[in-house]
Amino acid sequence: MCVVAISLPVLVFGLLVFAFGTVVGSFLNVCIWRIPRGLSVTRPLRSLCPHCGRPIRSWDNVPLLSFLMLRGRCRDCAAPISWRYPFVEGLTGLLFLGLSVLQRDSGPGQVIVMGLVVCLLIVASGVDIEFSIIPDELSAFGLIGGLLAGLLLPQLHVGDQPYHTFRTLTGTYHLDGLIGSAIGAAAGGALVLLFALVGALIFRKEAIGMGDAKLMAVVGAFLGWKVAVLSFFLSPFFGLLYGVPLLLFKERHVMPFGPFLSVGAVLVILMRPVACGYLNAYLDLVMEIVRLLAHP
Ligand SMILES: [Zn+2]
Repeated sequence: MCVVAISLPVLVFGLLVFAFGTVVGSFLNVCIWRIPRGLSVTRPLRSLCPHCGRPIRSWDNVPLLSFLMLRGRCRDCAAPISWRYPFVEGLTGLLFLGLSVLQRDSGPGQVIVMGLVVCLLIVASGVDIEFSIIPDELSAFGLIGGLLAGLLLPQLHVGDQPYHTFRTLTGTYHLDGLIGSAIGAAAGGALVLLFALVGALIFRKEAIGMGDAKLMAVVGAFLGWKVAVLSFFLSPFFGLLYGVPLLLFKERHVMPFGPFLSVGAVLVILMRPVACGYLNAYLDLVMEIVRLLAHP
């Protein structure tokens, strides 16, 4: 019999991380609703029911639990509350829990940065699904934040882990971090732009947009070019899983690509050392073949 021993402190810590994630998810819901409508995410502080406009009481604003207690309806007007609210809260909680378990070797600074990237991806996807755009405020915030993270936390890009961009470049640790971040942003953005250009030439319609390029630039700026490249090549599989049944039943043909990029990115982030290790092995193999072809 296999018994997984989880001590009480670990269980309590896990529950706290999950609960914290659901509270953050509740704020992400506010961002998904307000940012594309040009509203401030901090004012008013209290959320309003989108249907009747009455403020939501604080005891009706407890992540996950309130949705269950109210059976998915507004207390004032009984209008149905979107399933997106508990979904985003639960998802954020689970992803925070996953990060804290799978990435605990990366140290708290990097785990916090990864949590922030996951939050940005959730908001970008939530807006993209409803409006088919990825807001520029979000990309600009992410790009500046990513470069700043590289400067302040060079261990995101500099070191001897599989996900690192280089061991050292200029010899100045913080400058190297900033350069690693800039390389990641350029690589993520350029890769998507290249495929967007090729796609536009072949299919004569826009398959991936500028918003997607900016989103991958943000992922690269925070977590380096390897995570961005892996996310990009992983995302079409989720696109196909979702898109092929839709095409078969002739439903909508236009679907935003941002959420698939985000699913790819989140999976790569959760498995960062392993995923980047595979990429390094693959690149080594390609280099070896090139070397053999050049000097037989
Ligand atoms: Zn209402």
